[in-house]
Amino acid sequence: MTSPWLQPDTIAVHAGREDLAALGVHALPIDLSTTNPLPDIEAGGLSYEAMASGGTPTTEGGNVYARLWNPTVARFESALARLERTEEAVAFSSGMAAMTAAVLAATAGTGRRHVLAVRPLYGGTDHLLSTGLLGTETTYCTAAGVAAALRPDTAMVVLETPANPTLDLVDIRAVVEAAQGVPVLVDNTFATPVLQNPADFGAAMVLHSATKYLGGHGDVIAGVIACGAETAAALRRVRAVTGGLLHPLGAYLLHRGLTTLPVRVRAQQAGAERVAAWLRGHPAVARVHYPSGDPLLGVQMRGPGAMIAVDLRGGFEQAKQVTGAVGLFTHAVSLGGVDSLIQHPAALTHRPVADGAKPADSIVRLSIGLEAPEDLIADLDRALAAHRPAAAHAGRA
Ligand SMILES: *Cc1c(COP(=O)(O)O)cnc(C)c1O
Repeated sequence: MTSPWLQPDTIAVHAGREDLAALGVHALPIDLSTTNPLPDIEAGGLSYEAMASGGTPTTEGGNVYARLWNPTVARFESALARLERTEEAVAFSSGMAAMTAAVLAATAGTGRRHVLAVRPLYGGTDHLLSTGLLGTETTYCTAAGVAAALRPDTAMVVLETPANPTLDLVDIRAVVEAAQGVPVLVDNTFATPVLQNPADFGAAMVLHSATKYLGGHGDVIAGVIACGAETAAALRRVRAVTGGLLHPLGAYLLHRGLTTLPVRVRAQQAGAERVAAWLRGHPAVARVHYPSGDPLLGVQMRGPGAMIAVDLRGGFEQAKQVTGAVGLFTHAVSLGGVDSLIQHPAALTHRPVADGAKPADSIVRLSIGLEAPEDLIADLDRALAAHRPAAAHAGRA
């Protein structure tokens, strides 16, 4: 069951469950203990010491305290690491807690505080880096500008592919080469491990807002980073000290969600391909941002995914109207769940981004769920038809 040659769909169903048979259970157990009985002072102390420095609990000393170790969370982490083909993974209370831990692990106490960020990024990430809240200094650049922007004190490079919300694909291998050994973090939230494994192309850290596709049902906030053992130890140390923990109930839901992740992502993608093709032929649509046809498809990413950005000819006014007129789509931020969402990035998810780097006001972003594509298309058709240019309104009024 742990053979490395298993297909990803099989890994999604079985990984992280290796110890269940010995426990005599079939479904994932949820361990809610905040503390654990200690065998004796010395063994407990040694296990504490091992975990506080980023390691795993000792057999003799046990898990000690849930800020240091939780078996339900650890099972989810090991499953996600298998899917991302990394040695380990470390889970956090949100995608932003994961990003914070990654930045702290790479910079705090290292003498290097410079971060290179390839725009566009998720608005929250852009905001975290631009505020300098974590004591870092950030340079924003394009993928092609990474080599020129490197400094002796550059601690990490951050990129997102597909980017949010333009759906541009970034060549991970090219950025890793340009970074000359500086660790590259790839936000893989939009692609999921089903469509892309950034570690295969040299990424040192693969971050997910697990809130999105990994959870898939809109009921868990979480983050996770898949990485090598040494980086995982540094991240666990930060997590143990700062406390950005994933609750075991969330870990249980995420681990259960992984079993259907490949099926969900492929079905959502098939729906998105239909919706994107239909949108491309609609007269109200100036441009559809969807990476079908990108040269990196089939090389780096195995399919175009289920996120679409739409540039509307009617601009902000039409964006307002469409988000208010849809019926099946929910007008809400977030993405990656079984139901379809629509939102306006410039006003919401990318609100904190500096003016010159903000997405256009005419763009709405769609997250395609598992509904029948023809029903989603009919919903968008009605919502787009509801638009009357402002002048026509004035004329009627
Ligand atoms: C939502 C999101 C995040 C932040 O994750 P939270 O779980 O909301 O903290 C980071 N990156 C991307 C691409 C996202 O969509």
